[in-house]
Amino acid sequence: HQDEDKLQEYMDELEFLAYTAGATVDRRFTQKLTQPDSKTFIGSGKAQEIKEYVKENEIGTVIFDDELSPSQLKNLERELEVKILDRTNLILDIFAQRATTSYARTQVELAQYQYLLPRLTRMWTHLERQKGGIGMRGPGETEIETDRRIIRDRISLLKDKLKTIDKQMATQRNNRGKVVRVALVGYTNVGKSTLMNALSKSEVFAENKLFATLDTTVRKVVIGNLPFLLTDTVGFIRKLPTQLVESFKSTLDEVREADLLIHVVDISHESFEDHIDSVNQILMEINAHQKPMIMIFNKIDDFSYEKKDEDDLTPSTRKNISLEEWKNTWMAKSKHPTVFISALTKENFPEMKKMIYDEKTAVDLKTIGKNL
Ligand code: GDP
Repeated sequence: HQDEDKLQEYMDELEFLAYTAGATVDRRFTQKLTQPDSKTFIGSGKAQEIKEYVKENEIGTVIFDDELSPSQLKNLERELEVKILDRTNLILDIFAQRATTSYARTQVELAQYQYLLPRLTRMWTHLERQKGGIGMRGPGETEIETDRRIIRDRISLLKDKLKTIDKQMATQRNNRGKVVRVALVGYTNVGKSTLMNALSKSEVFAENKLFATLDTTVRKVVIGNLPFLLTDTVGFIRKLPTQLVESFKSTLDEVREADLLIHVVDISHESFEDHIDSVNQILMEINAHQKPMIMIFNKIDDFSYEKKDEDDLTPSTRKNISLEEWKNTWMAKSKHPTVFISALTKENFPEMKKMIYDEKTAVDLKTIGKNL
């Protein structure tokens, strides 16, 4: 990690993830290494420090902000004598808790088995067998002792099941006809569901936790007499486990097949630029990065900055740029139409709606052009 601020932000996010999963964070440990240790991820001195702390304070779980290799996981568990979770496992666990439909559950279960398969040799026996703890939901310890073959069979079964549902969903999407489809994309917790609710007067579940939305919800929205279909998608996050990107194919198909993307950004968040990068990267992975897109900077009601002194000559930092100043940064050069709103107070909603309306008309014209 390059600088201290970034490091703290990453740790804040990890703590928020842990909180979403139902854990309380007791202490943070960080270490500067040019490269993670191939065997134990952290250095031996740091491992010793953590081990002592865990013992003294009866800590149940140690969470790492990266995905650990199967052998790192095993070595760390042996060395620290405590349950270890990595970022991937933590995110998978949150997804497992939040999956309500059988489709979402199937997707998460597949991702969990794919994560588990190379890690079957984990030394669970010497650990306390806590049922239902974080990282233990879904395919848990009972499967760990079973044959890899059984898990492979299960994986192909789940894949088949998903293929069938994917086909059904593709048919459903085709049957929606010619109405322009708009998909909300964005980092997790930026306000996509809140915006969806505000636009469609529906009650989509919104809460201040990560990944409140796992299944796509599609609503008909009318702006200026023009109808279109608005889809809320699963939130993206830095280092989204690849297993999830793969198994959430159908959810992401909504994005891939949309005519227009609305990229929602939480501008009150210190790392909003990183969030934009993460989202764009995932859009690239699913080959949806060249779609028409509107950038919506949300939560302006919550935007705050430290005003600079008039004659302060020190350069601007992220913290002392005002909203007006932001608008003249790279944002001014963005090829995407941009609008600043609050989904909560509905500030600038007329402007936003006009922008969606105009883009939709532009998309319509393009579609007509294609069919001529
Ligand atoms: P999603 O994960 O992107 O769907 O985000 P949600 O819609 O669930 O919102 C995440 C949190 O941000 C919730 O606590 C919302 O109440 C809050 N939120 C959403 N929009 C705004 C906004 O414009 N201003 C403020 N202050 N909070 C907002």
